[in-house]
Amino acid sequence: MGIEEDSLDYHRREPPGKIEISTTKPTNTQRDLSLAYSPGVAAACLEIAADPDDAYAYTAKGNLVGVVSNGSAVLGLGDIGAQASKPVMEGKGVLFKRFADIDVFDVELEQTDAEDIVRTVTAMEPTFGGVNLEDIKAPECFEIEERLREEMSIPVFHDDQHGTAIISGAALLNAADIAGKSLDDLDVVFSGAGASAIATARFYVSLGADRERITMCDSSGIITAERAEAGDVNEFKREFARDVPEGDLADALVDADVFVGLSVGGIVDREMVRSMADDPIIFAMANPDPEIAYHDAKEAREDTVIMATGRSDYPNQVNNVLGFPFIFRGALDVRATEINEEMKVAAAEALARLARQDVPDAVVKAYGDQPLQYGPEYIIPKPLDPRVLFEVAPAVAQAAMDSGAARGELDMAAYVERLEA
Ligand code: NAP
Ligand code: MG
Repeated sequence: MGIEEDSLDYHRREPPGKIEISTTKPTNTQRDLSLAYSPGVAAACLEIAADPDDAYAYTAKGNLVGVVSNGSAVLGLGDIGAQASKPVMEGKGVLFKRFADIDVFDVELEQTDAEDIVRTVTAMEPTFGGVNLEDIKAPECFEIEERLREEMSIPVFHDDQHGTAIISGAALLNAADIAGKSLDDLDVVFSGAGASAIATARFYVSLGADRERITMCDSSGIITAERAEAGDVNEFKREFARDVPEGDLADALVDADVFVGLSVGGIVDREMVRSMADDPIIFAMANPDPEIAYHDAKEAREDTVIMATGRSDYPNQVNNVLGFPFIFRGALDVRATEINEEMKVAAAEALARLARQDVPDAVVKAYGDQPLQYGPEYIIPKPLDPRVLFEVAPAVAQAAMDSGAARGELDMAAYVERLEA
C-alpha cells in the first residue's frame, strides 16, 4: 500500500483520528466524582478566583498548548480551510505529546481576518499555558503573532516562522564552524520572502549574521531598495531590501557563502552552486522538493558543500520537531509569559552544542547505523535523539529566567534530573 492509502487507513481505524482526552485522577466512586465536579470542584474555582495564578496549581492549564490554525497555509497544500486542516493540527498534538508530554487542544478557526483571529485567540487565554500558531499564511501571520504577543501573557509562537528559523539557525552555527567562517562575515542569500524566510533572516541576525549582507529574493528576483521605494514589496520584505542592482537569484548567488531556500523546488542549478564562495553552505528547504537536489549540490564542486534539506532521506534534515516540543516544555515549566528572542537563541545554541557531542549507540541504531559524527553530514541532532529534550528544554527555561520572562524559578539540576526520569 502507498503512503496515502496507509494514512487514510491509520486515521479511519476506530476510533477515528489519533487523539483522545484521558483523566489523570481517580473517577471510580461517587466521592471521586464529587471532587472532580460539583460540588467539590467549587473549592478549586474559588482559589483561582482569589488568585488567577492558582490555575496552574488546580487545572491542566500549565501543560496545555492550543494549536491554532485557520487552515490558510497548510503544509504544501495551501489554503485548504479550517476543517481540512484538522488532521494536521491533531498531528501536531501527537508530536507535542510524543516528544515532550505536552497536551494539546487543536483549534481550527473559520476566520480569515487578522482582527477576528486576534480577538478569538486572546479570549481563549484562560484555557491555555501557551499558544502554537500553525499554518497561517503570510503576511497576516506576522501581524497576528505580533498582536497576540503584545496582548497575551502566555507564550505565543508561530512555528512555521520560528521553528524553521531556530533549527536552521542551529545548522548555520555548526555549518559556519565547519567551514571555518564567522557568522558576521557571511554573505547570505535567501530564496523566498514568505513566513519562514522573513523569520529565518531575522533570526540569523539575532544569531550574529550581518543584516547588511543578507540578500533576499522573491518570485520577482532580488528585493532591492529600488523595488522597496517603488512600493513593489510588503513591509516585511522591505525590512531586507538591499541597495544593490536589480537581478535574479543567479546574480545574487555569485560569491555567496550561504544559500537559504524557503521557496519552491528545483530553482537552483549546479552552475549557480559553482558560482558560490569556498565551502558553500546550502540549506535547500522547500518541501517536498528542495531548491536543488542533494546530490546535484554535492557533486557541483570539488570542495565541501555543507547541505541541509527538509527531507528525512538525506543528511541534516531541518525538522521543526527538533524545536517546538522542547521550547514549549522549557517555557511552560517556568510559566514563561512569552517565548522571546533570548529563549529562541538558547534553543538554537543548545541544538548546535548537542550535535558536537558523541551520539549514543541507540540513536545511531534508530537511524540505520549510518555514522553520525559532527561534520558536514551531521550538523544538527536527529529528531529521535532523546537527549534533545534534556538539552533544549533546560536551555530555554534558563534563558527565560535570565531574561525576565519566567514567572517561576527552577532548580536546574533537579529539573534536568526530572526530565531524564
Ligand atoms: P510562503 O509564505 O508561501 O512563501 C513562499 C515564498 O517563496 C514567497 O516569498 C514567494 O515569492 C517565494 N517564491 C515562489 N516562487 C519563487 C521562485 N521561483 N523564486 C524565488 N522565490 C519564489 O511559504 P513558507 O511557509 O515560507 O514556505 C516556503 C517553502 O519552505 C515551502 O516549500 C515550505 O515547505 C518550506 N519550508 C520548509 C521548512 C523545513 O524544512 N523545516 C519549514 C518551513 C517551510 P513571492 O513573495 O514573490 O510570492
Ligand atoms: Mg506548519
